[in-house]
Amino acid sequence: ATNRLRQASARSRSKHLFDRAKGVFTDGTTRASVERDPFPIYAQRGEGAYLVDVDGNRLLDLNNNFTTLIHGHGFAHVSEAVVDLLRLGTCFANPTEHEIALAELLTARIPAMERVRFVNSGTEAVMFAIKAARAFTARPAIARIEGAYHGAYDWAEAGQGVSPGKDGWDPIPIPTPTYRGTPSSVADEVHLLRFNDVEGLERRLSAASDRIACVLIDPMPSRAGLLHPEPTFIEALSETAHKYGILIVADEVLNLRQGYAGASPRYGLKPDLVTAGKIIGGGFPIGAIGGREEVMRVFGTENAQPLLPQGGTFSANPVSMAAGLAAMEAMTPDAFDRLEAMGERLRAGLRASIASRDARFSVTGAASLFRIHPKRVAPLEYRDAHLSAEEAWIMRTMSRYFLEAGILLPYGAAACLSTPMVHSDIDRILSAFDEFLEAKIG
Ligand code: PLP
Repeated sequence: ATNRLRQASARSRSKHLFDRAKGVFTDGTTRASVERDPFPIYAQRGEGAYLVDVDGNRLLDLNNNFTTLIHGHGFAHVSEAVVDLLRLGTCFANPTEHEIALAELLTARIPAMERVRFVNSGTEAVMFAIKAARAFTARPAIARIEGAYHGAYDWAEAGQGVSPGKDGWDPIPIPTPTYRGTPSSVADEVHLLRFNDVEGLERRLSAASDRIACVLIDPMPSRAGLLHPEPTFIEALSETAHKYGILIVADEVLNLRQGYAGASPRYGLKPDLVTAGKIIGGGFPIGAIGGREEVMRVFGTENAQPLLPQGGTFSANPVSMAAGLAAMEAMTPDAFDRLEAMGERLRAGLRASIASRDARFSVTGAASLFRIHPKRVAPLEYRDAHLSAEEAWIMRTMSRYFLEAGILLPYGAAACLSTPMVHSDIDRILSAFDEFLEAKIG
């Protein structure tokens, strides 16, 4: 039986906090991507796979701070490393051994990361990867996948919001800046590619090949649909980019959690630069840019002058470094395998429910990640995954239904498992989904 949430009064503190927050935050909260209708669920603490809200409800957390917490909440190994460090100080202008240890772990595991630099967020990591590609190639533009999310750097966000318009999709997508106020000139230096569109690759890259520094690609773009890459697409992308001297930047800020060596090797992608974030900080702010030694040399000096200056007051701060090291050390190949097996079981179970009820849903994802779509056929590109107003309503309703069953399920984004989860947690997710389908909402 599902652990039904106690009714309305059981969320009175969250409601009260939201009323208070509206006095200080535009729109009521800084946490942009959480449900706020009628009010967000305010977190009080975390306990392994569970988040406990301010009203004392225990919720199975499939958000894990936007896929960051691969060990769930309050992982002892991380907490102990951080507490030890706090006694010694939290940040210094001087480097510490902690940054070397985390860099050694990442370069040993991730084939494309011969050299690394640390920053404080995935947004910054993508920004510096783009700057590095521009510095290395002496070209100004980038190409990126329509609909994918790569953080808030101007050139990385343009093209995230391609819209179907009134008469269906434009045959050539227009990289409209997503955020109000981004100069329209940014879009002139952003070329959009459709995910899994082999045929369009050559046409789109050749049209501006001498201006494009890099293709920015998440091997399984989550916002665009947590899309499965077709091997032929990855192969064609590699060939075409190579032919035109365009670098490949794999944005693994989210998908690094797919395996011990990250996501690219799983799909045969051999990037020149890789960005990481989320899980590598153990729950603390982090980002990393890594890549081929030859390309990463742009961060070095020439005649004592920095080529591409990259700093940051809190970059490589020892707290994030030590927390990240503790979290990543615990992610052994066995730990990844166990999460993957649970993920496989979950996705297979969701698909079995859909098939047995002949429901208009599909599931994508790999390893510990999954996303449910209100679409009969699993999307291959953003245009397939894009939700109509009615479909968006179905997904929000599903998310609310899960909340009533004591499960936090993000919608329009990747959901994920964490290492403290056990098979009975998977059973709970499966029965909540099956009950939702039985209720025939949508
Ligand atoms: N790139 C990808 C693929 C992401 O999923 C995200 C965040 O969700 C980012 C970049 C931005 O990372 P951050 O939120 O740490 O700035």
